Amino acid sequence: MKKRSVGIIGGGAAGMMAAVTAAGQGAEVTLFEQNDRVGKKLLMTGNGRCNLGNRELSAGMYCGADPAWIGGRLKAFGTDDTIRFFRGIGLMIKEKNGYLYPVSEQASAVLDVLRFALKSAGVRVETDCRIDQIQRQGDGRIGLYCGRTRHLFDRAVIACGGRAAPKTGSDGNGFSLARQLGHSVVPTVPALVQLRCGEEFFRSVAGVRAQARLTVRQGGAVLLDEQGELQITDYGISGIPVFQMSRKVGYLLKTQPQVKVHIGFLPDLGREDLEPFLEERLARMGDRTVEEFFTGLLHKKLMQLFVRTAGLKGNQPVAGTDRGALRGVLEQCLDWEVTVTGTNGYDQAQVSAGGVSCGEVTEDLESRLAPGVYFAGEILDVDGRCGGYNLQWAWSSGYLAGTAAAGGKRASQRRGAFPSGSGLRDTPEESV
Ligand SMILES: Cc1cc2nc3c(=O)[nH]c(=O)nc-3n(C[C@H](O)[C@H](O)[C@H](O)COP(=O)(O)OP(=O)(O)OC[C@H]3O[C@@H](n4cnc5c(N)ncnc54)[C@H](O)[C@@H]3O)c2cc1C
Repeated sequence: MKKRSVGIIGGGAAGMMAAVTAAGQGAEVTLFEQNDRVGKKLLMTGNGRCNLGNRELSAGMYCGADPAWIGGRLKAFGTDDTIRFFRGIGLMIKEKNGYLYPVSEQASAVLDVLRFALKSAGVRVETDCRIDQIQRQGDGRIGLYCGRTRHLFDRAVIACGGRAAPKTGSDGNGFSLARQLGHSVVPTVPALVQLRCGEEFFRSVAGVRAQARLTVRQGGAVLLDEQGELQITDYGISGIPVFQMSRKVGYLLKTQPQVKVHIGFLPDLGREDLEPFLEERLARMGDRTVEEFFTGLLHKKLMQLFVRTAGLKGNQPVAGTDRGALRGVLEQCLDWEVTVTGTNGYDQAQVSAGGVSCGEVTEDLESRLAPGVYFAGEILDVDGRCGGYNLQWAWSSGYLAGTAAAGGKRASQRRGAFPSGSGLRDTPEESV
């Protein structure tokens, strides 16, 4: 029987996974990459260490499409499958607080084993080839155009990424290919990215790092709530809790000019504790200057800023200082309000939120508008939190699209689904 031919656009994490899977299921696969080599972005992941998955996998770690739909896709290829897949192609994986990394802590090792897997699965890799047009032919085959050259396939997978880190190749052109087929694209925003603030004082506190709780409130309710290490820059705020809330703040900023973020630095102290806390400190240290009085609470630069904002001078004696102003300094330690006016751009973002609407693809990630065409990876309207979730989505969706494009069955549906000789084993469905 003639082998099914599959053309895959994009040699990133999702495209490589789709290619290895489809070839392992007997398809004749060609992988097109516009760069001179595959997997450029992969090398940058996890600060060069590649956090390729996470033990704590659930739909709640993702945004975009309907959580039940995302959960179903993760169930078909979850964390255990990722570990098994990579072991099968030669990569040893270690776990740190649930975060998965290659034992070598080298992202290049992840790329290397994927490249070897492409080679041993017989995938034809065409680099320096940007697909600029996609067309479903009258006979149902899919035409991929690289300039004037047309390549015809039985099936195609679009895995061009989103808009994040455009220098690595994911410049959003995949969305144009999707639109050529009639797909709608949920507007994108940079995500897992720093937030820019309007206040002048940021220069004076740049470089401060502190554990903090960050909240965004709307209409009296807490809309976003993140904790972790906050990093203050000369233009705004950064760090994991900021990254985690950035996609939602980004969408809020599409409809309003600014978003107030409330930052609490003293988790053990509530508003009701402030008065007794101040009282006790005054009893012990009431003979100090204002700056000395607040020394030891938080980072010096922050305390100096809070003292200035409360209208006090560091060298004035505490004795005789307005008590309300002293309390005002403490209130800022509990609830420092900063005004976010923008996010950094796609060049600084780890992912882009938004993308091809998941309502327009089937459970196998096949286009409902152009049968025979599949989507995988960040091009879809799915984005995850920091912690290996975006690469997990690339592996899960790449596996699903690759399997379906090859006309195969998922590991949970049949035995022997992974490439023969790869050492990979079938796996029962994982609960997510
Ligand atoms: C600095 C940084 C650090 C990150 N760290 C992590 C991490 O530790 N853990 C984690 O889970 N996630 C991390 N991510 C996110 C993760 O890397 C992405 O979500 C993931 O790589 C997306 O995979 P993808 O295959 O969908 O897209 P991409 O990796 O963006 O690949 C798309 C590929 O398609 C090619 N392409 C695009 N258009 C065409 C075309 N028309 N023709 C041919 N080729 C085309 C591009 O050149 C590119 O190679 C990080 C991202 C960045 C930027």
